[in-house]
Amino acid sequence: MSEVKTHLRTCNICEAMCGLEIKYQDKQILSIKGDKEDPFSQGHICPKATALQDFYHDKERLKTPIKRTENGWVDISWQDAFDEIIEKFKTIQETQGKNALGVYLGNPNAHNLGNAMFLPAFIKSLGTVNRYSSASTDQMPHHVASNYMLGAGILIPVPDIDRTDFMLIIGGNPVVSNGSMMTAPNVQGRMKAIQKRGGKVVVVDPRRTETAKMADEHLFIRPEKDALLLLSMIHTVFANQQIDLGHLENYVEGLDKIESLVKNFSPQEMSDYIGIDASAIEKLATDMASAKSAVCYSRMGASTQTFGGLCQWLTNVFNIITGNFDSEGGAMFPQPAFDLLRRTERGQKTSYGRYQSRVRKLPFFNGEFPVATLADEITTPGQDQIKALITVAGNPVLSSPSGDKLAVAFEELDFMVSVDIYLNETTKHANIILPATTGLENSHYDIFFNSFSVRNNAKYSAPLFEKEDNQRADWEILKEIAAGLSGRPNDGFTPEFVLDMELKSGPYGNQGLSLQKLIDNPHGIDLGALKPCIIERIKTSDGKVNLAPQLYLDDIPRLKDMLSQPARDKDYPFDLIGRRLARSHNTWTQNSKRLVKGKNPVTLQLNPKDATDLGVENGQLLSVSSNVGEIKIEALINDDILQGVVSMPQGWGHNQKDTGMSIAATQPGVSINDLTDANRVDLLTGNAALNGTKVSIKVA
Ligand code: SF4
Repeated sequence: MSEVKTHLRTCNICEAMCGLEIKYQDKQILSIKGDKEDPFSQGHICPKATALQDFYHDKERLKTPIKRTENGWVDISWQDAFDEIIEKFKTIQETQGKNALGVYLGNPNAHNLGNAMFLPAFIKSLGTVNRYSSASTDQMPHHVASNYMLGAGILIPVPDIDRTDFMLIIGGNPVVSNGSMMTAPNVQGRMKAIQKRGGKVVVVDPRRTETAKMADEHLFIRPEKDALLLLSMIHTVFANQQIDLGHLENYVEGLDKIESLVKNFSPQEMSDYIGIDASAIEKLATDMASAKSAVCYSRMGASTQTFGGLCQWLTNVFNIITGNFDSEGGAMFPQPAFDLLRRTERGQKTSYGRYQSRVRKLPFFNGEFPVATLADEITTPGQDQIKALITVAGNPVLSSPSGDKLAVAFEELDFMVSVDIYLNETTKHANIILPATTGLENSHYDIFFNSFSVRNNAKYSAPLFEKEDNQRADWEILKEIAAGLSGRPNDGFTPEFVLDMELKSGPYGNQGLSLQKLIDNPHGIDLGALKPCIIERIKTSDGKVNLAPQLYLDDIPRLKDMLSQPARDKDYPFDLIGRRLARSHNTWTQNSKRLVKGKNPVTLQLNPKDATDLGVENGQLLSVSSNVGEIKIEALINDDILQGVVSMPQGWGHNQKDTGMSIAATQPGVSINDLTDANRVDLLTGNAALNGTKVSIKVA
């Protein structure tokens, strides 16, 4: 046995970028703890970090390519796999058109240095417009709002949580998610700090979430009424003449259009729809406008619904008109060391609307179509029908709406390839699976999440373990396929080469930032608090914030239509919403035995009054149906949820019989996406409307 060593790295499971201190001996991990000297996370970690070792050691993880045959899965060599993939992709594209090849990218790509860096070139090499990703499952409204208001989809405002005096959280549960579109390790500690300095946190949510329980105040809201709440609060700010654009006074256009828009959305008129008293809505608006600094942060519940686009736009408007945009304690903009914004020119033409999806005419944004229409594009015959597909690090059968229909669609493909370390509910439909190395075998630097970080910082992590001779990193796999398809030789660039170049030429390059400097500072380097910078970073052609893009104004009639619809569907009287769990992340951490041990967490939360009406007892098995499917799930009865609303976790439903997912042996759960309907989307952004699914419930 060799000596015990210490390895420092960033956890790449979720967005929080926690620093880890890993003790190991040879190939054995002895402990994974928070790195107290990491200037950003300061020792914070959550239980998921320890699962990194499980993925590395997992016996069910694939290490060599496998091919589906009549006699089951067989190992094949990398060369044979690449030869067959390139030959099949080329043939399908030559005979059926370039767009006959589709691509789906899962969320882990954003947490992978090599993929974040080389995926754009890989996608280009495929030469198809049939591109899909998990971004249209939950976050497209944020990018569309930034694109139309600020000229760049990557220019995302994040709460300056460490300096704010008033934080309003709508449809977000950052204490459990550890921040989302807000990279902030230890949200709990940061929230307590707001309260300790005399500030206030208010949560608006149909559930009394873990974040709501910590907040100073929680207000229940009806699902999908967040846009109405935001309009009413903006109405109040105008009515009270509290408009304050601060230092953006000469950089905002469209204020008059907003004033005219909100006239008919008074709290008094909207209160019954929203489910919050008019006086409480007015108080929220007034508190926000009169606080020394304040920020409104709206997330999953507000984004993954039929009005997600309006919600994210109005959140920005609310922050802007109360003087809380690009100012300390408000919604601010990071200045990352690896600055993705440098790839966007000022006034660059947006890709939005360049195409519509073939079957349902949904919008193309950020270089992709909504995943909610992927199954349609595979199963509907015609020019540009998808006949071959490559998925990279994703399990859309469990993570996308109507996931079970996507599974059926995959069976209709002529050829499918998955880059993944597991045989799972999606990859089992592939003809060939190409397994990559896992987190601990890869180097790491967070390209994306430094763009959403509440503090500027930079950290590089070297691989902990060397990959085995026969293993390849994801980016090596992608480059090999790209070279084969394009006929151009691999450029030989490594993630480290490009990272070093970007750091040296980036905003901190003149302060000596480079890869070597990060290697010399393995705990990471703090680059300071966020500073007002939008006037320099904005990418609209006139350099101004567009407060009222026509696209959004045109979507208001759709919102008004909702007001005339019955509050409850007689066949499906309950609104189903998702629930985030502290010990799971999307669909893939469920393969860690240490994270799934114990009681079944996949339960249907319902209000005691609803339970009494239905004659349901705690723990009883229920049958839950929507217009697209039915599941069986145990009841969890408590008053932490609004009457008429039910909630279950997302990311579950692993079926061990057909896959290698070891989790399923103990806690398979059921998939919420067997109930969600791919036809329910936010028509403005194309984002999936996972929340607000209408369901009926009976004892199973
Ligand atoms: S909060 Fe996220 S980044 Fe931090 S340890 Fe947990 S999973 Fe890792």
